[in-house]
Amino acid sequence: MDCIFCKIIAGEIPAQIVRETEHYIAFRDINPVAPSHVLVVPKKHLEKLGELTNMDESALRELFELVQDIAQAERIEETGFRTLVNVGKDAGQEVKHLHFHIIGGRRLGRIG
Ligand code: C5P
Repeated sequence: MDCIFCKIIAGEIPAQIVRETEHYIAFRDINPVAPSHVLVVPKKHLEKLGELTNMDESALRELFELVQDIAQAERIEETGFRTLVNVGKDAGQEVKHLHFHIIGGRRLGRIG
């Protein structure tokens, strides 16, 4: 499958990996919009947020624990951060492999 995030997960193309768990990999966004910008990506190729319902409860728990761990490690948990998922055309989803953005380290503007 020609998916850039699957290639990162397979180690075929480089990325600055910050965390790896059983079900997810997290790496720095190549084009950061803030001092801290990390992507959390399920290792399984899911395209859209709705497909997460196929993951079991422990994998979903792992996801939110990982987001929290990264925010703490990036030292943005106290100052604040944003987690978002772009889904589909209107949201401007560029990479068709589900990913959670974790963005922080500066005052963020309104969404939309
Ligand atoms: O949510 P969306 O699909 O628009 O975001 C894709 C993100 O993946 C972008 O922020 C882009 O900079 C990032 N990216 C990356 N490494 C790549 C390709 C894209 O961090 N090799």
